[in-house]
Amino acid sequence: MSKINQKTLREKINLKGIGLHNGKEVNLTIKPSKQNSGIVFKRVDVKNNNIIHANFKNVVEPVLCTKLINDNGVSVSTVEHLMAAFYGEGVDNVLVEVDAPEIPIMDGSAVDFVDAIRSVGVEEQNEPRKFIKVLKKVEVFDGKKFISIEPLSQDLIIDFELIFNNPLIRTRRKEFKLSNDDLTPIYNSRTFCLYEDIDSIKRMGLAKGGSLDNAIVVQGNKILNDDGLRNRHEFVYHKILDCLGDIMLSGNRIFGLIKTSQGGHALTNKLLKKFFSDKANWSIVNFENIENQNQNSYENPVAIGA
Ligand SMILES: [Zn+2]
Repeated sequence: MSKINQKTLREKINLKGIGLHNGKEVNLTIKPSKQNSGIVFKRVDVKNNNIIHANFKNVVEPVLCTKLINDNGVSVSTVEHLMAAFYGEGVDNVLVEVDAPEIPIMDGSAVDFVDAIRSVGVEEQNEPRKFIKVLKKVEVFDGKKFISIEPLSQDLIIDFELIFNNPLIRTRRKEFKLSNDDLTPIYNSRTFCLYEDIDSIKRMGLAKGGSLDNAIVVQGNKILNDDGLRNRHEFVYHKILDCLGDIMLSGNRIFGLIKTSQGGHALTNKLLKKFFSDKANWSIVNFENIENQNQNSYENPVAIGA
């Protein structure tokens, strides 16, 4: 019999890419770290107060990406695809060193992060992994947009409805179940934007590094990228990837059912803030003496109190 324990990387990873927002080259080093330390970012281009914890309480301006900031105003942007890779690959504790104010965008998906994690492998640590178990339904509305989380036994389901005023993207709805569904198409799905929005995004000083190499660009009912889509559900799958990454900012994996229509970084962050504001909404569980057959499929958690 084995427990489900926390994991870190076997060895460090080095990755290079460009920043989506500033368009500059970014070096990323992900290092193993000790149990119970969580996911921690370090801005190595900043001398002092350069540690930023991957926590939903540190999220600011979640407009086009998720940005984290520490008490001294040092920030790191575009963490969500990397956080989603940590969620799905079972990484609990690492130090992420970055020499720029943002994580490199890579190809606009999580696939390079996942490949890098798999190339070194993960290592089990001694402490059991903790999970958040949802006890009560919590929901957040913003006009016609909403997101909710409700109890679900030992699994995570994200039921995502995307509504886009574009003839190609249209309305798409997909349900993703962590224990059953293959994460590959979620990891592979790239961020996307409308061609007509590019000017206004760039005028805001954002997406200087954006290109067809790291985003799907849609004009009317055409995809401007030569190779088209990687899978039929790439738009909504990317939104599920973002949601998974943003949930990982709770500091733990969650057992719950998330439903959203037109969700995004800001709405997911509002949900986490509301959910964790009342201790009656959740409990923390772990697994002792459970045979671990599939790291994303769990049975019989042991309550250890909030
Ligand atoms: Zn994204």
